[in-house]
Amino acid sequence: MTLRTAIASLLACTAVGLVPTSAPAQVPSGDPTLPTPRVSADNAVDSVVAISVDGLNTDALDKLGRARTPHLHDLMDSGASTLNARTEHELTITLPNHTGMVTGRRVEATTGGHGVTWNDDRRRPATVQAAAGQRVESVFTQVAAAGGSTALFASKTKFSLWKRSWPLAIDTTRIQLDNSLLARSVRRDLRDHERAFRFVHLSLPDAVGHDHGFMSPRYLRAVEQVDRLVGVIVDAVRSDNELVGRTAIILTSDHGGLGDSHSDARKLANYRVAFMVAGPGVPAGADLYELNADDYGDPGKRRTTYRRTPPPVRNGDLANLTLDLLDLPAVPGSEHNSSLDLDVSPPPA
Ligand SMILES: [Zn+2]
Repeated sequence: MTLRTAIASLLACTAVGLVPTSAPAQVPSGDPTLPTPRVSADNAVDSVVAISVDGLNTDALDKLGRARTPHLHDLMDSGASTLNARTEHELTITLPNHTGMVTGRRVEATTGGHGVTWNDDRRRPATVQAAAGQRVESVFTQVAAAGGSTALFASKTKFSLWKRSWPLAIDTTRIQLDNSLLARSVRRDLRDHERAFRFVHLSLPDAVGHDHGFMSPRYLRAVEQVDRLVGVIVDAVRSDNELVGRTAIILTSDHGGLGDSHSDARKLANYRVAFMVAGPGVPAGADLYELNADDYGDPGKRRTTYRRTPPPVRNGDLANLTLDLLDLPAVPGSEHNSSLDLDVSPPPA
């Protein structure tokens, strides 16, 4: 069963009487004069799998096409996406951008950011809170506070920062440098555990980009390989009747890359990233900027500051989009998508 047919059958079930708990209780069923309570598509989602593909230059998707990156293209075909989202403005490196994804904050601590400016295994500052100089919550703490289980699967050791920062909110942390083994452990986890949120970090394109050049032939083969691993995870959701009708998948990147690096935050190839969302209620093949024409604006080739209105879609929207899909409030103190206005379903007709 494909995701779309699963959604259709789920909605059909709802129509014949599986009224969600949030439906207005005062509307008597069968009264033709009253409107049918609208079933929020969001209500179907109780689990989110977030995938970050480290160092994915969006040009690689055009270059490799559907034939060589079928799973990434399938995510775009079956959901809402853009290949013109933005990283954090300040930095186009791994740990600062990933920390933005899970906190919904900018980088710069003096203006309310998470303060994680480094990109290595250092133990000082020991936590995100120490870097920010204040309490910093995350998608993990919000999901855990609501009683949901969370897990982190990362392929770089520096992600241990998160476990130190939110030790009680991340139920399982697996750090495995081999991306294939990591994808398999995500597949096992999807089968064996009930969770509201999983964060998966796949490092392969970045690692090969540093060794052989971003957008080089070997880099492009690494993107093909990571596409297959994304397929392992997405197929684990879609082939599971328990998961498919209630799980959303979000995919983005920390940065792109061109030539031997991705560290210059002024370069389009570094600050332009993909942002894809698929799952129950998300219209197939939709453009995120078209779905959000009132609140978000396609930045063209511009880098864009945080002052720009409407803002671009950013990788840092991930935390609050996750919480929105799970019907939970935004991360306290967050900035990106903090009013939960990044829509992934069409407005009611
Ligand atoms: Zn890198």
